[in-house]
Amino acid sequence: MRLYDAHAHLADSRLDPTLETVLDAAAAAGVAGILACAARLEEWETVTAISRRAPVLGALGVHPFFAQTAPADLDSHLRLSLAAHPRLVAVGEIGLDFWDGRDDVALQEAVLNTQLTVAQALHLPVILHNRHSWGDFFKLLHRAGIVDLRGVCHCFSGSREVARAVLDRGLLVSFCGPITYPQARRLREAVAYVPLDRILTETDCPDLPAQAVAPGFSLPQHVGYVLEAIAEIKQLPVSAVAAQVEANYLALFGNGISASR
Ligand SMILES: [Zn+2]
Repeated sequence: MRLYDAHAHLADSRLDPTLETVLDAAAAAGVAGILACAARLEEWETVTAISRRAPVLGALGVHPFFAQTAPADLDSHLRLSLAAHPRLVAVGEIGLDFWDGRDDVALQEAVLNTQLTVAQALHLPVILHNRHSWGDFFKLLHRAGIVDLRGVCHCFSGSREVARAVLDRGLLVSFCGPITYPQARRLREAVAYVPLDRILTETDCPDLPAQAVAPGFSLPQHVGYVLEAIAEIKQLPVSAVAAQVEANYLALFGNGISASR
């Protein structure tokens, strides 16, 4: 059985001295693919370096929390940086996050819009982080005239209604550690609702550990707990869920051997 972690912050400084160990442990646990995400510009170089190593693929982007750090030339900088290596296969993580209030709506939207435009131009999928912002996000897509966005809503924690809306737009939904908590009722309802052929698994390493590893760091080697929770909620064999998640992951990100770029 091959496992896939569709969202890991391998450039996080908390993993720095132990990255080798983290990758070895992931391989030993059967993890056949890890998508390393960037949250800030400062992480792009590290993500690029790590993603040169199979089975890691990389995504570059500016997270909404760091919108104010986006450079004026974000558009060209992102295009050039993504061209550095064919294993950089996505733009992320990007989105709108109004958890902390809405002081910087215009800035977050501008930074997101630029990154969506680059993703569309390069035909790359996006890794979306949206919180308290789904309505604004859909409006932005509408204004930008984007009807065919490919990507995944990472660490999905929205309601069934939001799940329905993102599925209607063709996006995938990725679940992480919190679904392993039996009391996470609304979240587990979303897992039950989203069809298996639209689901990815992730750890959001090093945050959001599964119940079995809390309060420690969440690591790619733990993604099996997420897979098992999905299988339990959907009452399907773990192997069947694993096979479909693999197909979903490879369809969205490929295997890093790109002929087109
Ligand atoms: Zn993340």
